[in-house]
Amino acid sequence: MSYKLPDDKDLDAMIGIVGKEYATNNKAITASYLSKSVMGLESQIPDIVVRPKYIEEIRKILLYCSAEKIAVSPISAGLSGGFACPTIKPAGVMLDLGRMNRIIEVDTENRYVVVEPGVTIGELWAYMHKNYPEWAPPVPDGAPPASTVMGDAIDRGFSLYTSSVGPQGDNFMCGEIVFPNGDIVRTGSWALPFAKPFYKYGLGPDIWSFLMGSQGTLGVMTKVAVKIYPHPKFKTVVVWGMSNPEDMQNLTLEIGKQEFGIAHNTVMVQGGNYPLVMTRWPKDKVPHDYEFYEQLGISKWWMNWECWAQTQEELDYVVNRINKMAEDFKKNRAKDPDSIKPQELHPKQIASRLKKPNKIAVPYAFWEAGFLFITFYTPWNECAHFAEMYTAAMEKYGFPPVMWIASIERCRQAICMPIICFDSSKQSDLEKVQDMNRETTEYALKQGWLNYRPDPYIHAPLTYSQAGMYWKYLRMMKKTFDPNMIMHPGRLALP
Ligand SMILES: Cc1cc2nc3c(=O)[nH]c(=O)nc-3n(C[C@H](O)[C@H](O)[C@H](O)COP(=O)(O)OP(=O)(O)OC[C@H]3O[C@@H](n4cnc5c(N)ncnc54)[C@H](O)[C@@H]3O)c2cc1C
Repeated sequence: MSYKLPDDKDLDAMIGIVGKEYATNNKAITASYLSKSVMGLESQIPDIVVRPKYIEEIRKILLYCSAEKIAVSPISAGLSGGFACPTIKPAGVMLDLGRMNRIIEVDTENRYVVVEPGVTIGELWAYMHKNYPEWAPPVPDGAPPASTVMGDAIDRGFSLYTSSVGPQGDNFMCGEIVFPNGDIVRTGSWALPFAKPFYKYGLGPDIWSFLMGSQGTLGVMTKVAVKIYPHPKFKTVVVWGMSNPEDMQNLTLEIGKQEFGIAHNTVMVQGGNYPLVMTRWPKDKVPHDYEFYEQLGISKWWMNWECWAQTQEELDYVVNRINKMAEDFKKNRAKDPDSIKPQELHPKQIASRLKKPNKIAVPYAFWEAGFLFITFYTPWNECAHFAEMYTAAMEKYGFPPVMWIASIERCRQAICMPIICFDSSKQSDLEKVQDMNRETTEYALKQGWLNYRPDPYIHAPLTYSQAGMYWKYLRMMKKTFDPNMIMHPGRLALP
């Protein structure tokens, strides 16, 4: 597949659509979009950046680029690392949707808000906090305030109450999308002109779910209706420490499997190992031996349960039940009972954990010059196996074994996220990261574990090569939606 390198005539066409302030090939601006960290290392500098404000402008841009065979990469805020950047040369047009930043509607009876792609999680959080403090939008728990709700929807991330309500993709009701042929399609109940976005499966079959995880390869989303949930005042965080990932996995599963009652109150259930604490500081400024962390009262492994309740009585009940179940697990089933203990958090630690967006993941860049989140989904009762495999691989390749694990939908799935802290200014480190990424992905796929944000050169090709029939239908759908293959070429290993 080959693409046109946009020339001055193409830039003029873009300027003709959005105005001269909003289309440029200025190198300083196009280069500022490059990102090789956080989620992906593969990215190229776009040739032209275009910043539309209206759907009609997007239609015209896509029609033009389809006709000229110019690649288009849509970006909401670009905080998925390199995932919103082009993968190929010529890189073509980057469609920066940041100017489409309206919060269009809040409906507290039907419990949704409608936003455009440029609405950041910080903006939506602050808007709801000020105007609808009883309601919490599904912002990703640890993502930077400048990332967007739309970007996280498409990526099927995880929100601040993901353990209670499921993956981020489940929080999105209906969407509006512009396809490269210029058609504007509304999904779910929104397909009917007078219907509210109240039912995502709408007229059926459901098109919206097909767009989840599409990484910009099928079209441009211009509106989305997002579920909101009550934001009760009674909250706390319960923590239990242990020495190994099996005890972490098994205790957490027992609580998640309750489903009703306490499990629905545990909105964010996330844990990991002590290097998670160590690597949030510069490498040469903190001790690396576990004894230091042990003296601070940090267990080798731990699990946090962030609990939300409507009354103090309900919160007390939830906390007591978690503690009783942990005591029972320790007494009767734990692999290393002596290591299982409650961890008392300082009220300031609890307050900082409860603050959203919490920015908790940002400091991993301090350890060295860069970090990479590699995100796998496993069945919950296999997350300890994943953790053991991946931490061993990180040690083998000379990276600190940093492992973060969170429950999705009451331990139906585990999101397992090794955080690779490395020096992104060293080519040899980049190569080491990719060697480890390949080796661990090959192993993971054999276990049936999958990468939910597949990168274009390792995860996507290795995964789809094992799912031939799925790949065949994915390509057929891609050809239907985007016959000239202009949308984000290379992502998901699609042309
Ligand atoms: C420090 C840190 C912590 C994070 N923590 C979390 C977390 O706790 N939970 C979580 O879920 N995520 C987390 N993330 C990941 C990321 O920030 C979120 O997924 C974020 O919301 C992505 O939004 P974005 O606007 O930056 O997406 P972008 O980077 O702009 O885009 C994401 C993908 O969607 C495509 N895309 C974007 N907009 C459109 C559109 N309108 N139409 C079609 N395709 C589009 C892009 O091409 C790209 O492939 C974290 C990231 C960082 C840097």
